[in-house]
Amino acid sequence: MASFRFHQWLTCEVIADNGMVGVGNAALAPPLIKQTIDQFLAPLVIGGDPFDYALLWERMYRKTHAWGRKGIGMTAISAVDIGIWDLMGKIVDKPVFKLLGGRTKQQIPVYYSKLYADTVDAMQQEAAKAMEGNFQGFKARFGFGPKDGLAGMRENIKRVEALREVIGYDRDLMLEAYMGWNLDYTRRMIPKLEKYEPRWLEEPVIADDILGYAELNKGPIPIAGGEHEFSVIGCHQLLYHRAVAVLQYDTNRVGGITAANKINAIAEAHQIPVIPHAGQVHNYHLTMSNFNCPMSEYFPVFDVEIGNELFYYIFEGDPEPVNGYLDLDDGKSGLGITLSDKHLQNFEISQ
Ligand code: MG
Repeated sequence: MASFRFHQWLTCEVIADNGMVGVGNAALAPPLIKQTIDQFLAPLVIGGDPFDYALLWERMYRKTHAWGRKGIGMTAISAVDIGIWDLMGKIVDKPVFKLLGGRTKQQIPVYYSKLYADTVDAMQQEAAKAMEGNFQGFKARFGFGPKDGLAGMRENIKRVEALREVIGYDRDLMLEAYMGWNLDYTRRMIPKLEKYEPRWLEEPVIADDILGYAELNKGPIPIAGGEHEFSVIGCHQLLYHRAVAVLQYDTNRVGGITAANKINAIAEAHQIPVIPHAGQVHNYHLTMSNFNCPMSEYFPVFDVEIGNELFYYIFEGDPEPVNGYLDLDDGKSGLGITLSDKHLQNFEISQ
């Protein structure tokens, strides 16, 4: 099963009259997102007050609604909105989480998210190494799907069993299909996976199949998803239909921090925990400031493979976990990251 890769990233600067700069970002389709911001969104926010963020968000949402709503449109809004929040934090000299609800936990527990499908030996070695970081959980990716038939199912199970051998049963094991399965295949896999006690099964089917998620989520393994859902109302649909047991919106797709904070409240009302997709600093601020966000995903710093790791090559200041937990600095204003020039020679830059 070939992995989806994205090797581009967009950063979006929101500049105040006094010269202060808020930085937002978005992955996925940066050239199209840049065009959307330049042509459609920038004119709606330039001249506005960043502290009127709800109005600015609504303006961007309404003006692009006919074609925006999901995908490129909402990702572009996300990048601008994250920049606005970073700017607000810098103006009042507070970290963003202090503007959202403050500190709800001393530190954020994180789970190790890598373990891409490989040979059994290689995955066991990676898990053994990751155990040294004392993480609360470990997420592994499946490498076989419907086209690989029964033999592929056995290969998937073999790897889950091998990982449990290494991490034992006192740590969480999360399993990720990244939409590479379908409903029928997942129905057949779940009984085989159950005895390995996965904390959750992530994105077994395509993001639009909400009823498929809802059906699977009635089964014995909690279903996680939401990183390819967009907007407050999109996430509400997942919650309303009990489609996920863990909601994983991605802040730089779902509509930025303004939307994510509203979704957190809705998820709390449904008593569904939120563990945002991706170990990026905007997600940490939302997790720190919400009781209903029990932990964060953490992508270890590795050479660039899928694209998620690019964050570490573009920004400086992202907190690193120690002994399975990470913390945000009360003394850093905004999101606490800056653009890095250390790896600029490895990027082709378009402005
Ligand atoms: Mg995922």
